[in-house]
Amino acid sequence: MMKNKPADKIQDIQYFGEYGGVNPSISDSSTFTYMAGKTMEMVFDGDKEGCYLYSRHMNPSTGYLAEAVSNMEFTEAGQVSASGMGAISSTILQICSAGDHIVSSRTIYGGTYAFMKNFLPKLQINTSFIDITNINEVEKAITDKTKILYCETMSNPLLEVADVRALSKLAKKHGLKLVVDNTFTPLIFSPSALGADIIIHSLTKFINGASDAVGGIVCSSKEFVMSLIDVNDGAAMLLGPTMDSIRANGILKNLRTLHVRMKQHSHNAMYVANELQNLGLKVYYPGLESHPQHQIMKDQMNEEFGFGGMVMIDAQSTKKAYELMEEMQNNNIGYLAVSLGFYKTLFSAPGASTSSEIPEDEQKEMGISPGMVRMSIGLDNDIERTFDKIKGCLKKVNLI
Ligand SMILES: *Cc1c(COP(=O)(O)O)cnc(C)c1O
Repeated sequence: MMKNKPADKIQDIQYFGEYGGVNPSISDSSTFTYMAGKTMEMVFDGDKEGCYLYSRHMNPSTGYLAEAVSNMEFTEAGQVSASGMGAISSTILQICSAGDHIVSSRTIYGGTYAFMKNFLPKLQINTSFIDITNINEVEKAITDKTKILYCETMSNPLLEVADVRALSKLAKKHGLKLVVDNTFTPLIFSPSALGADIIIHSLTKFINGASDAVGGIVCSSKEFVMSLIDVNDGAAMLLGPTMDSIRANGILKNLRTLHVRMKQHSHNAMYVANELQNLGLKVYYPGLESHPQHQIMKDQMNEEFGFGGMVMIDAQSTKKAYELMEEMQNNNIGYLAVSLGFYKTLFSAPGASTSSEIPEDEQKEMGISPGMVRMSIGLDNDIERTFDKIKGCLKKVNLI
């Protein structure tokens, strides 16, 4: 158990508003005044840190959110962005130049996969996609051009769990930056405590938890964050994936209940996964002993937050998957929608949606089959009642 628990960092968030408000005031300004011309010159020269200059660079509201999430991740600093992809693309482009190489898990978010596979080669940055659960294969893929080892703590959509401890040893041995996308498992994993260098979140998912905003964050050393926002060559500064102050303020408020929500998501998902498995369905959930990385997860997780809110089942064919999802939506169990971490259950067929960027033959090789249904289990108060309804839907479409 960690002495310093990540949820304590959420509990201890304390930013007062301008008039003593219990929430911080929103800094609704793109630019900031200076008392002296010389001070502004020093900021541009990088001789004066911590001054607000222009909101694409830094802003008090985005700064509060960045600090709060980076505290939760036990990193020195953070930089929020307009989306998770904004955080991922800036990070990679900050580290890699033409000729460099990335070793990445092959089971990653479809957008990240497409960025590495289709976009980065235009800049002569190439990626080897490997099975992240096979440490030997990971090491074999590393070349003298490799700069980044990239993975998700819990991968989309197969819910594979990365052995971040082992990967970080490998990264250190070869002088690589270990970049970990922790979107599926905030609070559940603390990748920096396991040795990761850079932790990324799509704030759009569990952290905001309301499906009303898009956002991202990079958590890392202060040195790396400062490089991202360097006025001369910082990827975040120059590509401009800036988050708006009002959004940042809203996401900060939702962050305050993340610990309570993650426990409920995990509790409900564990119940649903167990019951589905008992009905004889093929279920993917790291909380089940049948999951190949169950033990790795147990060894590295912050136990009190459970095994996460994502459950996947195999409905055998795309047709059956669609029938099941439509039936569940008609019964108000949740919504047929991509994304995750909402109050209500969301479900989608990854093969034809969030992983559709990955060609079909590669999907097959990874173990993604066309009948898969990914569920982000909601915050339902009475999950037994919900499960009874799910069972009714499974019967209706002849899956049980
Ligand atoms: C959604 C998601 C992203 C991309 O985040 P956006 O906020 O949609 O840009 C990246 N990684 C994972 C694991 C995701 O689920």
